[in-house]
Amino acid sequence: MSFKDLQLIDPLLKAIEEQGYTTPTQVQEKTIPLVLAKKDVITSAQTGTGKTAAFALPILQLLSDKQDAPKRGKKIKALIVSPTRELALQIGNNFKAYGRHTNLRTTVIFGGASIEPQIDVLTKGVDILVATPGRLIDLYKQEVITLEHIEILVLDEADLMLDMGFIDDVKQIESLCPKQKQILLFSATMPFKVEQLANTILNNPERIEVHTTLSSANNIGQVLYYVPKRNKIELCLHLLRNEIIGSILIFRRTKFGVDKLEQTLIKNNYQVETLHGDKSQTDRQTALKKFKSGQVNILVATDVAARGIDINELDAVINFDLPNIPETYVHRIGRTGRAGNSGMSYSFCGADEKAYVQTIQQLLQIQIPVEELHPYPLDPNTKAEIHKSKQTASKHKKGRKSAASRKKKKRWY
Ligand code: AMP
Repeated sequence: MSFKDLQLIDPLLKAIEEQGYTTPTQVQEKTIPLVLAKKDVITSAQTGTGKTAAFALPILQLLSDKQDAPKRGKKIKALIVSPTRELALQIGNNFKAYGRHTNLRTTVIFGGASIEPQIDVLTKGVDILVATPGRLIDLYKQEVITLEHIEILVLDEADLMLDMGFIDDVKQIESLCPKQKQILLFSATMPFKVEQLANTILNNPERIEVHTTLSSANNIGQVLYYVPKRNKIELCLHLLRNEIIGSILIFRRTKFGVDKLEQTLIKNNYQVETLHGDKSQTDRQTALKKFKSGQVNILVATDVAARGIDINELDAVINFDLPNIPETYVHRIGRTGRAGNSGMSYSFCGADEKAYVQTIQQLLQIQIPVEELHPYPLDPNTKAEIHKSKQTASKHKKGRKSAASRKKKKRWY
């Protein structure tokens, strides 16, 4: 199938060609016709599948069919709600690139940045607004924007919005838009609460699933290291010294873990940048810029902070902590081996993470090859360690609970 077969208009086909895209991805093939037919759609697809173009192209087409007369001023007709600033910026850039031969205007608003320039652009009028929830509500309350002309609402990375505690904001935003509108919901995973949200606000939606299997990533080598938790840092240093070269993304579960690993790597003379939810917008962008330009070759991040970030040409991913959601493993390792390049993923499994390996292997329907020859093997007689880690886990859980009740809004990602 070609983009022309998707009945896209010439200004979009021209922009697609300029982007160097030759054929639509699976999610684009499935989603674009439904959006053009004005259906509500739920798509489960992760970043990297081309999902942004899957909603951006048909939205640009639907809106360019009926542009405002120049004198009447522009009204926001499509709203894309995105959980993070980085994702919002990426989506905004995509709209601008794909819409460059139309007269449609897109802008991006997000928190943590000066509000005045955003107000200036909005006052001049835009057709398409990409926004993070908090700043959107803020500007709405300040009466800088109105949502009464919204025809299409996109909720991107809905599961991440849920994780980040934005679901009430999203519900509020939806209720501020006209009742009659088209809603497109994208989510990498479909936890119950996202399903619930979809069921309450979408109108007879079409469902699209782009499978998160490794068939699209079979050029990624995978290797699993069983290692005691306390030795993971040493194993990481060992692999960096002896095995892994190039640009490396290391995933840790928590921001504390990210900071701790960063300190150790810096002490060992590695060039490292980090991404987690507590970093300022400027720091996050600087970190990404340095990593993308090759100034540093190691980026340590939490899933939430790294989600959706468009980094191509990664040589390796290290799962320093294994994710408890198997789809997250697929997302992580899918960040390497893109665009036909080969890539490697290295996963460290502590005694308390063995169950995660099982669920990952069930999803992938393969056995991940295990590297047994390394200096920090996990003692096969791991009962003590399992017992110990269970105790620690329950201690942490209790600690987390009380910390959570003390400071409800403190984020861990
Ligand atoms: P996304 O999943 O929207 O974040 O897209 C991931 C990457 O794929 C981005 O760098 C896009 O520019 C690129 N992309 C999107 N659609 C296509 C396509 N049809 N062919 C090649 N690359 C694409």
